[in-house]
Amino acid sequence: MKYGVNEQGYYGDFGGAYIPEMLYPNVEELRQQYLNIINDAGFKEEFDQLLKDYVGRPSPLYHAKRYSEKYGANIFFKREDLNHTGSHKINNAIGQILLAQRLGKKRIIAETGAGQHGVATATVCALKGIECVVYMGEVDMERQAPNVARMKMLGATVVPAKSGSKTLKDATNEALRDWIANPVDTHYIIGSVVGPYPYPDMVARFQSIISLEAKAQLKEHTGKELPEYVLACVGGGSNAMGMFYHFLDDESVKLVAVEAAGKGVDSGHSAATTFLGREGVLHGSRTILMQTDDGQVVEPYSVSAGLDYPGIGPQHAHLYKINRAQYVSVTDDEALKAGLLCSQMEGIIPAIESAHAFAQLEKMKFKADDNVIVCLSGRGDKDLDTYIKYFNF
Ligand SMILES: *Cc1c(COP(=O)(O)O)cnc(C)c1O
Repeated sequence: MKYGVNEQGYYGDFGGAYIPEMLYPNVEELRQQYLNIINDAGFKEEFDQLLKDYVGRPSPLYHAKRYSEKYGANIFFKREDLNHTGSHKINNAIGQILLAQRLGKKRIIAETGAGQHGVATATVCALKGIECVVYMGEVDMERQAPNVARMKMLGATVVPAKSGSKTLKDATNEALRDWIANPVDTHYIIGSVVGPYPYPDMVARFQSIISLEAKAQLKEHTGKELPEYVLACVGGGSNAMGMFYHFLDDESVKLVAVEAAGKGVDSGHSAATTFLGREGVLHGSRTILMQTDDGQVVEPYSVSAGLDYPGIGPQHAHLYKINRAQYVSVTDDEALKAGLLCSQMEGIIPAIESAHAFAQLEKMKFKADDNVIVCLSGRGDKDLDTYIKYFNF
């Protein structure tokens, strides 16, 4: 693949595995084994079976008629919100639990922001009867309380991260610390296309089912091989990478990645990584991140817990730098309004993360026969509290 990872674990200038020595055996074990394991016929069979019977795949590609009229193009939603546990995160969690089993691991750890990755991980651990510990920022535990309850009900231990902005970045730091302390029996299920190589490539492969299905489904709907535009929101970038994956080499397809501008890119309360960030190392890979002049990570902000992250995955950093994808940002207000619009025009309450991708439609100009696919990464149940407070329902 032209835009895929090279043998050293890099996408152009980005990627690699910048890890403390204590983690080297874990990451090296993964690097040596991941392709053998996920290309094994038995693995593929179990993965496909679970995606079908447990997750409910394929997720529909829905032709949104009222949106199509409003925006003057054929607008399709890729319905990851309909997956079991309510988002795309389960695709990756299933892949990684099967991998962890084959590596003989007895304990799973994970980080979570919005709680969707924590719920997906707690779910697959219940499915396999494996111990599960999820790290979550204290602020996120409050704003995504329903997901904390779900994780506990599923049998996971949820540990609050109390450092920094008490959000996703801090939860990731805690999870990495745990992994360093428990290198032999524990597998760390990272929830996005971030972290040291091979995680960004591994997670992208597990999420690539999104574009594999969407490509075939678009053909069924329209007779066309390719859409003109594909849009997705970006926190770390896993739903976007899954949505882009099988379109990357089709250069005519315009890829649009939507970051969270928070209260505005210049407000000091933002998570618009490509706009505000510079090249550096975060959570094990060389990428683009928000940092001060002396290299301290800047605390990000977004109303959306899943996008409230100061970096992006290294493959996104590469696609940004070489201009293969366009990176834009949407504010809290724009996203929340887009979430309300989607609810009232299409009868679908989207996650606030996904609502960022919908908000971008307002800023684009289409031709009448353009086909546009938006990744509806998750459902909005977890965000009702935030929506209610914002709109005073
Ligand atoms: C976690 C999450 C995101 C952001 O993560 P990515 O890795 O960028 O996809 C987006 N949408 C939903 C619904 C999520 O749960």
